[in-house]
Amino acid sequence: MAHSHILGFPRMGAQRELKFALEGFWRGERTEAQLREVGATLRSQHWQWQREAGLSFVSVGDFAWYDQTLSLSATLGALPERFGFDARSLSLSQYFELARGNAAQPAMEMTKWFDTNYHYLVPELSPHTRFDGGVSWLFDEVDEAITQGHTPKPVVLGPITYLWLAKCHGEHADFDKLTLLPKLVKAYQRILQGFAERGVSWVQIDEPALCLDLPAAWLAAYQPAYDELATPALKLLLATYFDTAADHAVLATQLPVQGFHIDLVRAPEQLPAWRAALPEHAVLSVGVIDGRNIWRTDLRKQLPLLQALQSDLQDRLWIAPSCSLQHVPVSLQPEAKLDAEIKSWLAFAREKLEEISTLSRALREGEASVASNLTACDEAVCSRRHSGRVTQVLVQKRLARLSPEMAQRHSPFVQRAAVQREALQLPPLPTTTIGSFPQTAQIRQTRAAYKRGELTALDYLQRIRDEIELAVRKQEALGLDVLVHGEAERNDMVEYFGEQLWGYAFTENGWVQSYGSRCVKPPIIYGDVFRPDPMTVETTRYAQSLTERVMKGMLTGPVTMLQWSFVRDDQPRQATALQLALAIRDEVADLEKAGIRVIQIDEPAFREGLPLRQRDWVAYLDWAVHAFQVSAACVRDDTQIHTHMCYSEFNDILPSIAAMDADVITIETSRSAMALLDGFGAFAYPNEIGPGVYDIHSPRVPSVDAMVRLLERACEVIPVERLWVNPDCGLKTRAWPETEAALRNMVQAAQVLRERQGCLSAA
Ligand code: GLN
Ligand code: ZN
Repeated sequence: MAHSHILGFPRMGAQRELKFALEGFWRGERTEAQLREVGATLRSQHWQWQREAGLSFVSVGDFAWYDQTLSLSATLGALPERFGFDARSLSLSQYFELARGNAAQPAMEMTKWFDTNYHYLVPELSPHTRFDGGVSWLFDEVDEAITQGHTPKPVVLGPITYLWLAKCHGEHADFDKLTLLPKLVKAYQRILQGFAERGVSWVQIDEPALCLDLPAAWLAAYQPAYDELATPALKLLLATYFDTAADHAVLATQLPVQGFHIDLVRAPEQLPAWRAALPEHAVLSVGVIDGRNIWRTDLRKQLPLLQALQSDLQDRLWIAPSCSLQHVPVSLQPEAKLDAEIKSWLAFAREKLEEISTLSRALREGEASVASNLTACDEAVCSRRHSGRVTQVLVQKRLARLSPEMAQRHSPFVQRAAVQREALQLPPLPTTTIGSFPQTAQIRQTRAAYKRGELTALDYLQRIRDEIELAVRKQEALGLDVLVHGEAERNDMVEYFGEQLWGYAFTENGWVQSYGSRCVKPPIIYGDVFRPDPMTVETTRYAQSLTERVMKGMLTGPVTMLQWSFVRDDQPRQATALQLALAIRDEVADLEKAGIRVIQIDEPAFREGLPLRQRDWVAYLDWAVHAFQVSAACVRDDTQIHTHMCYSEFNDILPSIAAMDADVITIETSRSAMALLDGFGAFAYPNEIGPGVYDIHSPRVPSVDAMVRLLERACEVIPVERLWVNPDCGLKTRAWPETEAALRNMVQAAQVLRERQGCLSAA
């Protein structure tokens, strides 16, 4: 009979229990024992749910105190040497220092997990990394599951993907990581041995790197590595997800592993290649439930496929979600406010467990045994399809408004820059910030009180205005050149806009982990997206009225709105992106009419939308750039458009970034030691650019000198007339004291450079 399993479950808890426990521990308000207790309770709950759904295994190894890749580094004994920690005796506090930095060392680099909005901590390796073992937490969790009567299926990231995601720094930047593989494989052998000793039968080993464009040397590394890992005591399920791995089906199926998992939601077309290559006794786990989106699965549609596979593969067929469920919220159950009809269209992690359960029962005992589940599903699918058809007509009407001119500014950048210089009268190396200022407890309480109905709209407005005034006065005192209102009214840069647009639905508890203890609550785009009224005009106008300085309007761009929402899957993503672009365009036009002269359209998620395979990039970049242009290009030449991107590597998409034609782009650079800038320099990025001069992810206050040095480097590759000075990203996670100290130093660093430039031009 077909097995059923999941690749991973969200670890934060339905009420974000882990978040609050972590933050309490970090603040010193909770003991380590209390924190551990919360973790154990969550794991046990999640396993219980998997068992109740009749899954063949419970997933172990998907829990992590901060990030599963960091936990794997700690298990392997592959910690950055600069911290001087011994992985084998690593304490939980040291683990958090790796993730968050300490007084002596900045945090490990964090970056997006493939094309998701989850961030992992990049393994930091060197030729000396020993991989001689580390913490035993993963084994403890396996023991824990066994003690609770479950059949654990541990999940670990495979050695090739682990190594591929790792980085070497400084003098070792060019080191060939692949030479570490033999040592690394030894460490994996020890992990597998630990599982075998505990009586584990199956281990899921994730190799999503097989869905990337891997160089030949890396592909060739699979066979020798897995030959070493093969052990008669264990069966390995090699898992790929997020895209097709069909072109490597032959390679993969020659490895000494006992099963394969493939993502049939993202890449249904890969099934025949895998079926053809599948060895006689190997298991095929088919990911037919979307682990990345929240729409209910059309079970009736999946059943014939699964039935055919089952008659062919028998018990070698496993049913699963496409990828780990960590990318969707935990449960729909507590969503009391969600429209009942929309709610019926959705499935979060727990509901997905039920879907798997229904499917496997239908295969085992026949469709009649799950008739009522199937009927409920049919009704929901039918209702959603009907609504979808209606809104698609509206979408088509709105998109008919588009014309090619709408994506073009009136004049080329050089001309615009001259007019803007005249209009804005900014000093050289203008200073600015990325938008948000510290979201203090007071601000959060104000918003929460308003949401609960304890504050009148007028009182709320007044309090937000007070916060704006505070931010403006502080910025004036700091001597910043282009000010922002501080985003006190925004809980989240996507949700805030989604709430004011049509076609969006919101959950109360639909949290998804972004990194560490940080969660996001992606809104759900289910219908026709439209802006009924201005969204930010009153706030921005008010902020501008407080100051003589230039006030920058602050919007979230269409690609990011799309990327950080759960998007309808019944029309092409680009259709939804263009609808968003039109809505934002209307807002841009209204801001300009209200006298706002600088407007920033944030696109921090622009790069993470890139398909994993390069061959699919052009199509994406075409519509993504177009969507941004549509949102921005309605303004006069003397209105300056900024965009902001973070956490990203841009060098391979610079022509597209340039094609967006923002007058100014601010980017994250400080954590990648300005490597990014070299790309901007080499490509001769034509417009203005603000390379982030300090990392906002840590409370460390950077020195004037450190920022001067970064700016000097920037000056080498970008003409000083086109340079801006700003932090890496928004400051909402910071507190005021460090924010003011850092910005004071930043303004001073700009001053130092201006004086130096002045001397140079005078000389
Ligand atoms: N304007 C946003 C802020 O400052 C940008 C955030 C981001 O890039 N993620 O918070
Ligand atoms: Zn940012």
